[in-house]
This record gives sequence, C-alpha cells and structure tokens, in this order.
Amino acid sequence: MAKILSVFSLRNLFFMSVALNLSLILRFMNEDGERGLTVLSWHKQEFGTDLDGENRKRRRPLFSSDNSTGVGDDDDNGRVVNLDHGDPTMYEKYWQEMGEKTTIVIPGWQSLSYFSDISNLCWFLEPEFGREIVRLHNVVGNAITDARYIVVGTGSTQLYQAALYALSPPDAPQPISVVSAVPYYSSYPLITDCLKSGLYKWAGDAGSFNIEGPYIELVTSPNNPDGFVRNSVVNRSEGILIHDLAYYWPQYTPIVSPADHDLMLFTVSKSTGHAGMRIGWALIKDREVAKKMTKFIEINTIGVSKDSQLRAAKVLKTVSDSCSEHSDRNGKSFFTYSYNEMSSRWKQLREAVKQSGHFSLPDFPSEFCKFLGYKFEPQPAFAWLKCEGEITDCESFLRSKKILTRSGKHFGFSPKYVRISMLDREENYNIFVKRMSVIKMKIDETCM
Ligand code: PMP
Repeated sequence: MAKILSVFSLRNLFFMSVALNLSLILRFMNEDGERGLTVLSWHKQEFGTDLDGENRKRRRPLFSSDNSTGVGDDDDNGRVVNLDHGDPTMYEKYWQEMGEKTTIVIPGWQSLSYFSDISNLCWFLEPEFGREIVRLHNVVGNAITDARYIVVGTGSTQLYQAALYALSPPDAPQPISVVSAVPYYSSYPLITDCLKSGLYKWAGDAGSFNIEGPYIELVTSPNNPDGFVRNSVVNRSEGILIHDLAYYWPQYTPIVSPADHDLMLFTVSKSTGHAGMRIGWALIKDREVAKKMTKFIEINTIGVSKDSQLRAAKVLKTVSDSCSEHSDRNGKSFFTYSYNEMSSRWKQLREAVKQSGHFSLPDFPSEFCKFLGYKFEPQPAFAWLKCEGEITDCESFLRSKKILTRSGKHFGFSPKYVRISMLDREENYNIFVKRMSVIKMKIDETCM
C-alpha cells in the first residue's frame, strides 16, 4: 500500500511540475505580448548580456491587439527584428571569406604564466598585440601612437573603469563629477555608478554641467548614439578628458587627421567586429595614469586573457595586411569592404525613411578621408532615428512593428528618438529596412 502511494505521489509530482512549467512558459509569452518570440529570445532580451542594455522589462504592446505588424504581407512572417544591441555580426561574412587567415592554434603548454612582458609598464600586454596596435594605427592614420603607453583591457568597458580610477583624485572630499554631452552612450551612467564609488559619480549632461571644480568629461567621437564627430563641451581648466574613439575608423567616418589626445580608448568590438574577444586598448600620454590604469586591471582581473590578445594580434595583422595596395586591388581590404557595406546600408535606410515619410535621420557634412582618399558623409554604426509627427514614444511604436530599438531616454534624450544598430546580419537588416519603408501610421493614442 505504502509502495503504491509513493509511486502515485511521484507521478503526481511529475505531472504537476510539467503543468507548472508549461503554464509559466505560456505566461511569459502572453505577458510579453510578442507571440513571435521564443522563450529563449525572450530571455535574451529580458536579460540582455550586453552591458549597454539596462534592465528593460518588456511591457505589453502599446499598439493594436492583433498579431500583425501592419507592414504588409510580404514581410518575413512578421518576425521580431532586434536592433537594440550594437552586436557587430555584420562582419561575420568578411571573416568567413578570409578563411584560415585569422586562425590561430594555441598549444596547451602556451600562455600559462600571468605575465606577458615584465619589462613593459603594462606587464600583461602581449608584445605581438602591442606591435599590431601601433602598426594598424599607422596604416589607418587615425591615432598618434608615438610616445604613448598602451594598456590592454577586457574590452574598452574595463578600460573606461580603469581610466575613472586612474583619473579621479584619491583624497577628494567629494567624488569627482563624470559628464558627457547628451545624447551620450547609455552604458556610461550605468558603469560609472554601478559600485557607488567614493572616487567618482555620474553627473549627466556635459552641456548643462555647472558645478565648479574638477570633473571628467567623456568625449565619444564619432558619438554613440548619433554618429556626430565631437569635441569637449565644458572647456574648463580643471577638466580631465577621456576620448572614446571606438568608432573612429574609416568604415564609419572620414579619417581627417590622427587623433592626438591624452587618453584614447579603442576596441576590436567596433573596429573589426570581434566583440566576443573582449579586447580593447588605451593610448595614454601620461606615465602615472597608464600605471594606475594597469594597477586597476591587475586588481580587477590580474591582466587580460592572453589567448584573446594573441587572436586579436592576428586579426589586426590581417586587417593591416589587407590594406596593402595588392590586397585592395583584389577587393580584399577590410576597410573598403566594410565601408561599402555601411554605405549601401545607409542608402537603403535613407530610402526607406523617405518612402515611409514618418521618420527622420541626421544629416552629416561630408569630409575628405585621408585613408580612403575620397570625400564622404559619416555612415555611423547606429542610426539615430526620430519619429516625426505625434508619436512621442518611438521605441514603443517600432516595437509594435516588431522592431526592437533603444529609446532616446536611455541616452539622456527624448523618447521621440531611438538608436538602431546598423551592424546586424544582412538578413535581419534587410527585413528591417523593408519593414520601415512600408510602415503605416496606425497609432494607438498610448504612444502620443
Ligand atoms: N564605447 C562605446 C562608445 C561603445 O559604443 C562601446 C560598445 N557598445 C564600448 C565603448 C564598449 O566596447 P567593448 O565591447 O570594447 O567593451
């Protein structure tokens, strides 16, 4: 009898757990209101791994209760196009075509030591990677590397934190203010205030900053999200500048002269598209600042993955090699390829925006690019799109069309704007522009 009871309750438990899980899954799908989403993609959006996403709970859709996108029948089954994150998968195709050129083999006995070069101030920088950084900047002409210290980081995200640590006065009575002009990169406030540091604190828009005393200003040029070339805006003697030059590469903007600032941040994430490698580098004039940044990374992660640095060295070498005249003539230059890709994507988007008539995009002045040898308009990694007319919440409006973007409010700006990644895979990008071009204005009053 006892045996029967125990079998019965085990079975009951099993069926109960299946039923509970099923109902949970169904609830997710219903609450999300985006029935085209799988539970996995729902999870990815909810807990986006990209730091520059914040905890954005997906709300119920604000528009139409039906499941259609309102964008026509020939659209790709109304599937959700997620262009919220700046994930640079566009570059996948180029690197696939490069085949074995960037393949490296790391034997098991290699890279055991913490140390890469104890004679270097940044003792965990792989010498080969340091050499390829200098070579690439010289080839492209986008930054001065002479008389600079190089510090490698786990992405430029880590280097940003190392820079804040190094530049903040250690004994100040108040944390130093950190500012950046709106619209600023949405991660800056999150990273700056994440640990509620006693050294520094986020103080918002540089344009309206009026507190006396020292401050740190972040200058992102070209800017994320709007793509404009920028200079510092506060311009006071006590200001300390960090130049985030993640997008100062010829596929995005004309290279007018080599950048020559005190502290410049670069990353493979947006230059070559290898965001998953988590490698960035800083070019620093001041020895003490470079030393403190190195110290921060030592305390934080005891250096930076050697495997990633070796891989990054090979990728940068391949890019530099590809820029030689011979490779360029065969259409293999990385920057010619990526420039052309960006150019065609921007043309498509501008055309779609014109057709739809409900949106606008920034216009940029064209300039001569010393690297590519011709004049062109910036073609940023993100589109900073404005919903015209009565739509006040552009992100919600586009979400109702199953296009996921990031609201202007995350960048300290108006929700009439959204940031859209231009670096997604071709297939997704094509669905996106096609959908944009045929959007019909069927607006629910909740977004007005
Ligand atoms: N700075 C800017 C302006 C960025 O857009 C990004 C990536 N979104 C980063 C820094 C972070 O780069 P990484 O992947 O190297 O941490």
